[in-house]
Amino acid sequence: MQKKINIAIDGYSSCGKGTLAKALAQSLGYLFIDSGAMYRAVTLHMLQNGVDVNDESAVVQALDDVRVGFVNNAEQQSEVTLNGVSVEKEIRNIEVAAHVSEVARIQAVRTKMVALQQVIGEPKGVVMDGRDIGTVVFPDAELKIFMTASQEVRARRRYEELVAKGDDVTLAEIAENLKHRDTIDANRENSPLTLTNDYRVLDNSHLSREAQFVLAMGWVDEAIG
Ligand code: C5P
Repeated sequence: MQKKINIAIDGYSSCGKGTLAKALAQSLGYLFIDSGAMYRAVTLHMLQNGVDVNDESAVVQALDDVRVGFVNNAEQQSEVTLNGVSVEKEIRNIEVAAHVSEVARIQAVRTKMVALQQVIGEPKGVVMDGRDIGTVVFPDAELKIFMTASQEVRARRRYEELVAKGDDVTLAEIAENLKHRDTIDANRENSPLTLTNDYRVLDNSHLSREAQFVLAMGWVDEAIG
């Protein structure tokens, strides 16, 4: 049997990390974990319970009541759960997106999520996407991919995705949210998004899904050896 590896996919918001991660996981028979969904679920809990996300001690206190996990739906797609209930749809709204980076910068939140991510990755055979997967969660991941795309391409893609779902959003609002999150995610004190030289960089501004998949699969083959 082929050796199993962990694949870390990091990068800015809305670069298509999830799309690539899912495609790789499906093709390899690996587990796909969307780590951003975990931070979004924590944020949803705070918003639902009226916790001020800018009040760190209030967030840390409320964190005790948060259990995040994953469950497979009827189509065998993994969905994130908050205290046992799937919140996959709720975590994608603009309200959660507007506050998630404030919550994710808090070290206690990160420590709790990273511990869970490391348990999931222990047996290998995991493709996980996020911001700190190759630097903090799986520093020994056999393959690390850093995804990037122009801000314009990213905003348009996310806008079209949300509009297709029936959300009432504007392109300007989405572009603003991406900029806001990128700035916090790359400049925060705790586990900032950082491109180190052990990453393979994939700029998909002008690549089709198929082309980026082929490119990444080549790296996977090299990493598996
Ligand atoms: O990947 P996604 O855009 O859904 O992530 C939502 C937010 O969660 C990011 O903007 C970032 O603030 C946070 N995040 C993080 N570390 C990760 C994954 C996501 O801080 N590993």
